Amino acid sequence: MAIETLSPQQSHAWKERILPDVENVAEGVWAIPVPIPNNPLVYTYCYAVADGSGVILIDPGWDGKDQYLALTSALESLGFAVANIHGIAITHYHRDHIGLVPALLKKNPDIWIAMHGEDLRSLKRFYSQTVDMGTGLDPNLNIARAYGVPEDRWAEVESLQLNKKAGKRGGGSDADEFALQMSSIPDTIHVLEDGSALPLETGALSALWTPGHTYGHSVFVRDEDQLLFSGDHVLPTITPNIGLDSGAITHSLGDYLKSLDKIGTLDAEMSVLPAHGFRFQGLHDRKQELIDHHHQRLNEIRERMEATDDHSVYSVAQGLHWSRGFESLHNFNLFAALAETAAHMHYLDIDLGIGPLVLKD
Ligand SMILES: [Zn+2]
Repeated sequence: MAIETLSPQQSHAWKERILPDVENVAEGVWAIPVPIPNNPLVYTYCYAVADGSGVILIDPGWDGKDQYLALTSALESLGFAVANIHGIAITHYHRDHIGLVPALLKKNPDIWIAMHGEDLRSLKRFYSQTVDMGTGLDPNLNIARAYGVPEDRWAEVESLQLNKKAGKRGGGSDADEFALQMSSIPDTIHVLEDGSALPLETGALSALWTPGHTYGHSVFVRDEDQLLFSGDHVLPTITPNIGLDSGAITHSLGDYLKSLDKIGTLDAEMSVLPAHGFRFQGLHDRKQELIDHHHQRLNEIRERMEATDDHSVYSVAQGLHWSRGFESLHNFNLFAALAETAAHMHYLDIDLGIGPLVLKD
């Protein structure tokens, strides 16, 4: 089973971890790489889709001056100003996808925003900071203790939870700034459901709800020429993190596997336009690889649990295979690995002793 790249240029850039060129990937569709600072993913693809006399964007990318410039100058080279942006459709609320929305809205308040209702809820929780976004759990819960993290590593995990005393993240951080910006997103968002059509002037794009990576994750399908804007749901070479999403850790893996099955009902010949990596064909093969990956993980966890008496998330995670080794995981990466392990353990119906989720809007 193998996928086939549709763009040697994009594959090369992904392999070298450099910015690819802006590319015309289908009739009236361009892939614009928007840089992500200090991140091994290097960039997110923002897709610009021609719409009448203007354009709509799918996932404008990370916020910041350089990012804004990268996106707007690419659009300009294609003949579009910010004033020509009709709308923005969001696959999911993560910062490398939604970050530039406030800056674009500030310049052009007429832009419509479309995203799934569940991710809109998660976004609101994020900026109101009522629930720890890393776990989806009450921020007063000591997740490091619950996961069996050795005490000398608690700080690595806890630094990612809300600052309990202040009731918010540690003073004036970049994440605070992002939360503040996001609070300026208006309530007039076009709330997507499974099957919703985007409000385009010309052509048709429909949303498919694909919960897993986030609970409100959606992909977009253009039937006329078989395009799938897959967001982070299906990526060519990496697996999206499962288990970090607010409110969904107890069912995220089950959701994700179901959403992969759902994608399997689409045409196998579709051109997949992911948010990271390169565009490719071989949707069904990739879907199966992702399913196999998670089943292999579940087996590994079962074996690890049989081999040891310590059934804490930390201990189980320690015994799993990680691409650069468990020892290389620190801070956010450690936390993401633990969340991913916890999501798999939940799926196996293992009680982690962290209680039910407490979600407040
Ligand atoms: Zn992403």
